[in-house]
Amino acid sequence: MSHKIVVIGSSNVDFIMKAARLPDKGETVADATFVQAFGGKGANQAVAAARAGGDVWFVACIGDDPFAPALQEALLAAGVHVDYVFVRQGETTGAALVMIGEDGQNYIMVAPGANYSLKPDMIRSLEPLLREAALLVLQYEILPETLYACLDLAHALGLPVLFNLAPARPFDASYLPKTTYLAVNESEAQSLCGFAVDTPQAVERAAQALLDQGAPTVLLTLGAQGVYLASADLRQHIPAFEVEAVDTTAAGDVFCGALAAALVEGQPLPAAARFACAASAISVTRLGAQPSVPVREEIEQFLSAHQKICCVIV
Ligand code: ADP
Repeated sequence: MSHKIVVIGSSNVDFIMKAARLPDKGETVADATFVQAFGGKGANQAVAAARAGGDVWFVACIGDDPFAPALQEALLAAGVHVDYVFVRQGETTGAALVMIGEDGQNYIMVAPGANYSLKPDMIRSLEPLLREAALLVLQYEILPETLYACLDLAHALGLPVLFNLAPARPFDASYLPKTTYLAVNESEAQSLCGFAVDTPQAVERAAQALLDQGAPTVLLTLGAQGVYLASADLRQHIPAFEVEAVDTTAAGDVFCGALAAALVEGQPLPAAARFACAASAISVTRLGAQPSVPVREEIEQFLSAHQKICCVIV
């Protein structure tokens, strides 16, 4: 049986500046510190799934700029297969400018660059790869038409899909039945449901609304509150692990990547979600996106050190 995970999505170079405060319009704040890291939701989830033990094949478009070789090396070092990471001549790799001020407040600007060169016809040519896969993992930093082509092809092949509708952007809800697992945080759920998801009752209502819109299984991630799981015969809240959070960047990406690795091993959804909560809890105790992603051994050690009983809501 195949355990291959295919992740199709974005790959970015992040330029991160940290200072005591954010600048006002037209102002220059000096004395910042600078870090360059690799990010993008697709790449983050691919790295998280591979470090969690998955056999991961990443599909993305990057530029032919000086970042491309280092980016591919970072993926390879994490154990991700890069055979389908396409270098686009004359284009720039997706980039994110991140400014962080006090209390983690931030300004972020993203230039999709080569990420938007991933087009539906390229997706259709991936059929042989997808035929060998056990799970397709998608996010929403690619063109809508490319995302829909992925969902259509996976559906036609009967391939299970974990779709993280992030960031929140207009999405044709008629595609929800073509997902297998829909992972959203509170604000992404709000953008789909049209009401604030800010109380336990609203979480249950939002999960039900997403099931009613045709999503077969919903994972509503709740930051430090954990995750709420809902499907036809399941309603379960998995609490987050209590940790000292220093940087929650990419918590959702680590959650989705680790979840994918656990699901293809055949773990039942609640156990897979608990494994993903452990991976993301570890990641929030560390700075940065990809550098904070734990490896399998760390996740297992963390889990055995934090034996916790799941609270079941039926
Ligand atoms: P996103 O990054 O997409 O906004 P969330 O903030 O909901 O996603 O986080 C995803 C998962 O990461 C949560 O379900 C939880 O398991 C874990 N997590 C996030 N923040 C914390 C935290 N402060 N402490 C422990 N776990 C956390």
